[in-house]
Formats: sequence, structure tokens, C-alpha cells
Amino acid sequence: AGSPAPAAAHGDVDLRNPLAEVVGAELLTPLVGGGSTRYVNLDYAASAPALAEVAAHLNEVLPFYASVHRGAGYASQVSTSVYENARRIVREFVGGRPDDEVIFTRNTTDSLNLLAGCLPAAGDVLYLDIEHHANLLPWQGRPHRSVVAARTLAETLERVKAWLKASEISLVAVTGASNITGEILPIAELAALAHEHGARILVDAAQLAPHRRIDIAAADIDYLAFSGHKLYAPFGAGVLVGRRDWLDNGRPYLAGGGAVREVRLDSVAWAEGPARHEAGSPNVVGAAALAKAAQIIEGLDVKSWYRHEQQLRDALVAGLSEIEGVTVHRLFEDSDLGVSAASRGAVGIVNFSVEGHDAGLTAAYLSAEHGVGIRDGRFCAHPALRRLGLASGSLRASFGLGSRLEDVERLVTGVRGLVERGL
Ligand code: PLP
Repeated sequence: AGSPAPAAAHGDVDLRNPLAEVVGAELLTPLVGGGSTRYVNLDYAASAPALAEVAAHLNEVLPFYASVHRGAGYASQVSTSVYENARRIVREFVGGRPDDEVIFTRNTTDSLNLLAGCLPAAGDVLYLDIEHHANLLPWQGRPHRSVVAARTLAETLERVKAWLKASEISLVAVTGASNITGEILPIAELAALAHEHGARILVDAAQLAPHRRIDIAAADIDYLAFSGHKLYAPFGAGVLVGRRDWLDNGRPYLAGGGAVREVRLDSVAWAEGPARHEAGSPNVVGAAALAKAAQIIEGLDVKSWYRHEQQLRDALVAGLSEIEGVTVHRLFEDSDLGVSAASRGAVGIVNFSVEGHDAGLTAAYLSAEHGVGIRDGRFCAHPALRRLGLASGSLRASFGLGSRLEDVERLVTGVRGLVERGL
């Protein structure tokens, strides 16, 4: 599919992604200030901009838009094939095992709530206190143990191990990368620990999938969830991938058409497979968008992709750290926040505070005066922010495929200006 050409459409303003030549990924970005200034979106962690190729793909798919699994008509059959093909693409994208279920949902939150209805009766859920509320609240409705993350990843692993030894745990629910600081969790090690103690592991990959290759078979991950809208795919499908037995025996997520084998007036035989949890007309366009984005990301040259994000991260951390009164936050002392080279590292998320400046007002200033959009607040992770001493909130800049060094520089200039002008 050909991509729209935003650069050509806006005269001499070059909107091309710096990676476009290297990996062929181009994003749709808005202009502000009468069409001459590129708005700098550094809030990818909330929702990433659409890949131009995804948008183009949807234009191809939309003429065939019709109900899936229901109609005998041509459009309906094409739509069904697009939808089922999307399932196959997603399974490949995450390195799924052939018998893993792939269930389309609204988003990560939906996926985790779905899984919560499928857990076996016995055993608690174990989660860390750094989790996004989406990977915390669904478990609070059932027996659970929460682990206070230590100051190092090594010690955190020890704490998880101790809990696994001390109590009967059915599921370890952990984020792949922190939505607060971008730090990457040792998911393969956690998976090994969980399995050693008879538990399974769920990885909330909402922030990991847009930044790292994931291979759930190699890392021995049982369940994985992520959202299309954070993966450069608009229209909002999410996904839950994982082991079939719990999902096939679990409570159907939604009761309704499509999720059944046979219905009588006062009884039902539920379907197995993805249909069990996908009652009602599904979001075909969302699934197609997610799958197309997955294909594009799968095609990226890993080296240039990771290097590009690491360069931006290093520049941002270094630039912010030089400004008096700015603190860059981290959860773990032994993770690498980006200024040095090789390590497990962190994804394109940097969290910071400016001493003496309210986070909300700072974010508003950066947007109004510098055309830079970042996020402020508590990032749907109240327990973690409280423990970090940031109960009144902090600032988060996040970036990805369409981001450039000059975007990061604009943010650093804005923060420096704020501090120097003493606003
Ligand atoms: N988990 C993490 C780590 C997140 O960062 C987010 C969103 O910010 C979610 C879950 C929830 O994602 P969604 O809003 O797409 O359901």
C-alpha cells in the first residue's frame, strides 16, 4: 500500500520520520501555528500517532467493511478473512505457540479484565506495586498478594521468589516495561521463577510491544496483552494472547451472540476458542489496524530502531539532568536509564520533576509556549507514585518511531527556559 505523503502536502515543511529511509516507517503528524510548525508530540506512551501505512491499509480495507462470521456475501467474507488473518499476524508478531489463543479486545485493560475471569479457582495473583492500574485493579477482586518492588531489580526478583515459595500463586502479573519510567522488567527471569513454583505469568506489554521485539515462546510467557492505539494503530483494538486451557474454561467475557454453540431459553453451551470471549460484532477495523502495525514493526531493522530510540533517550536524560532543579526519576537503581550503552535498558519514556514547579502547570507551559505535548500526573499508577514520593504527580515525556532529536531538544530548551526565567 502506498503511504500518504505529508511532507509533500505541506510545502517545504519536512514531516518525514527520520527512520523513513532506514526502515520505511512513516507517521501522520499534525501541524500547528498556521501549518508551519511541527507540533511535537512526546506522549506516545498514552497513544502513539498512526503509521501512515496503517492508515493507507485501512483505506483499502474499509470498502469491504461488513459483519464478520455472519454473512455469506462477498464483503462479509473478505471482512472475515481480514479479521482472522489479523489473528494469525498477531500470533506471529509475538512469537506465539501454534495453540495459543489470540483474542481481540478493546485494549490492554479489557484484555486483563478478560483474563481475570478465567483464572483457576485456587491460587492467588501476585503483582508488583509499580503496575498500571489496569494490571492491578482486575486482580483486587480476588485473592492476591502485592509485592513492593525493591530499589533494585535483583532484590525485587528475590521478593517475588519469596512470595512464590510462601504461598500458592496461580498467576504472576507483571508489566513488561514501566509506563512511569520506561524501565524494562526481567520478564524471562520472572517467567522461570513463576514456572518453578507452579504459577503462570502474564506480561502487560502495553509499553513493551511498541518498543521491543517480543517472543513469548522463547521467554516462556503464558499470557501477553497490549493495545493497538499505543502500537501506531488507531481505531482501538487490543489483544490477549496465551494459553488456551484457562481461556476455554473461563467465564465468557461478554454474554451474547457469537460466543455460543447452542442456546436454549434458559441455558447455554458456550463456544470455545476466541469466539467464547468475543460476543457481539467485533472491531474488525481495529484488528486490521493492529495487525498491519504489527507487520510494519516486525519489518523494522531492529538495530536502527533500538539505536534511534536509545539516542533520543540518552539525549533527553542528559539534557534534563544538566538543568538545575530537574530530577529524572527511576524505579530501580540497577536498571539502565539510558545515558550509558548496552543493558536491558528502558523504552522511550522519561519521567522527571522540576523543583518548585507544579507538574500540571509545567506541562501546560511547555505545550502553550513551546508546542511540546507531554503528560503530567500520576500515570494511572498511584501506589508507585506514592512510594516514589511523587504523590502530587510528575512529568512524563515519551517517544517512538516518529520522534526526532530536535523534538527532544525542544523539550529540553523549554524546561531550561522555564527554570531560567524563574516562572
Ligand atoms: N498497562 C500499561 C503499562 C499502560 O501503560 C497502559 C496505558 O497507559 C495500560 C496498561 C492500559 O492500556 P489501555 O488504556 O490501552 O487499556
